[in-house]
Amino acid sequence: MKKVLLLIAAALLLAVLFGSCSSVTDKTGPDIPEETTQTEVPETEAPKETEKPVETEAPKATEAPSHVHTWGEWTVVVEPTCYSQGVRERVCLLDVTHVERELMDIGGHVYVTREDIAPTCVAWGHHGGTQCKYCGEPRRQSKDVPPTGIHDYEETLVEEPGYMKEGLVTYTCKVCGYSYNKKIGMLTFNPDDVWDGTVADGYASGDGSKENPYIIENAAQLAYLAEHDQDETKGKYYKLAKDIIVNDLRGWENWDLDNGPANRMTPIQYFYGSFDGCGHSIRGLYCSMSGNRAATGNHYASRGLFYSIGLGSELRNLNVSESFMVADGGIVNSVVGTMDSYILISGCSFSGKIIGAICGGIVGRVSVGLAHNGGEPYTYGYVTIENCINNGNIMSYETEEKNTHNYCTGGIAGDCSCLFGYCRIENCVNNGTINGANKTGGIVGEVFTADFPNSERSVLISSCKNFGDVTSKKSADGIVGNIWIYNETAPQFEDCFNYGNVSENVK
Ligand SMILES: [Zn+2]
Ligand SMILES: [Zn+2]
Ligand SMILES: [Zn+2]
Repeated sequence: MKKVLLLIAAALLLAVLFGSCSSVTDKTGPDIPEETTQTEVPETEAPKETEKPVETEAPKATEAPSHVHTWGEWTVVVEPTCYSQGVRERVCLLDVTHVERELMDIGGHVYVTREDIAPTCVAWGHHGGTQCKYCGEPRRQSKDVPPTGIHDYEETLVEEPGYMKEGLVTYTCKVCGYSYNKKIGMLTFNPDDVWDGTVADGYASGDGSKENPYIIENAAQLAYLAEHDQDETKGKYYKLAKDIIVNDLRGWENWDLDNGPANRMTPIQYFYGSFDGCGHSIRGLYCSMSGNRAATGNHYASRGLFYSIGLGSELRNLNVSESFMVADGGIVNSVVGTMDSYILISGCSFSGKIIGAICGGIVGRVSVGLAHNGGEPYTYGYVTIENCINNGNIMSYETEEKNTHNYCTGGIAGDCSCLFGYCRIENCVNNGTINGANKTGGIVGEVFTADFPNSERSVLISSCKNFGDVTSKKSADGIVGNIWIYNETAPQFEDCFNYGNVSENVK
């Protein structure tokens, strides 16, 4: 009996909470006794808050309505889901305080497109799935996309590289935080040694004699030499004591016609002395088109390191490296062998890039002997280029065919013209890429020989090797691109070998 009373009390309480003008009904069984309904309520997961909005003034269960309700449309108060019942209610049109609400069946799954998630370096992603928006049950499985393993790095410079000191960069993934360090190679030059663009008022030491040569140990002193002409350098001796750093070498590989470093060095103009690099290098030369003959009327304004050497001059053991030059030669533009003089270029090397017309890695043009010199009918010259190496890339500036008739491009020399005397090129090596517009050779672009009266055998090329690729818009060869023989004095070749690829008539 006590149990029955409790049940009735619970049913009454429910009726007060859940219904206003009539008893709570379940849509599925409106005729089921209240006790049954009451037992079902706890099973549904109808949210509790649905109980709160029912602010209707609940009439006492015992009061009977004074009219027959005229119900409005059902409105859903709580959406049914695939796992929980919903609740709907309707309001009496005759008295809005009369509200009837009832439970709604559990609904089906409602499928929606699953949001695609891109994978990251470490996390899986997925795409293309659909799933129930309530319970997550998939209808179409999305495709899992594995982690990319590709980190999205941010670069942080921890320490600048310095001279003889490595730098450090940290790379940190912006997504997962993975990070690692990378060393930056130390500078191969001391930034404090880079030329400040000034000209010294003397050499480091020496008097220019063979026993006590002028010592040059920085770019300012080399610039001082460039202020002296052939009369002042004739018979004088010079030695490098250190590498000369003309420009900051960072990124020198990217120098080109338009982008160059700060310093331009005036070439040593007509040099008749003896210069020994002692194995040191002049580093970071940059010669551009600006200041060239067309612009200034001064044809040696911007052309190379030595514009011209002659009359007994010697260049030894000198390297020019990390340089970009619009010039004819990496070491010297023009060698003029006349007046029965001997000229020697020995043990020199070039690395970098040269763009020119008649150009070579070591020398642009070699001219030996003159047909007429004042009252003398002929003058002789004797030129030797030996033990030199070109590692630079040499190319013709002009590519328009009509302008390239005289263009000669070679790894060691652009052009070698010999009238009276001789020119010997011995034991030289080219490793650079040679790219010419016309006469193009791994060692020499063009050789011209003649046998005027009393002329000696004129051109000898011996023990030279080419390892660089040679490409020409016209004629090309691994050793000499073109040979021009006047009368019958052919140049001589001994023990020369080509190992590079040679391509002629490349358009
Ligand atoms: Zn009513
Ligand atoms: Zn579901
Ligand atoms: Zn990562």
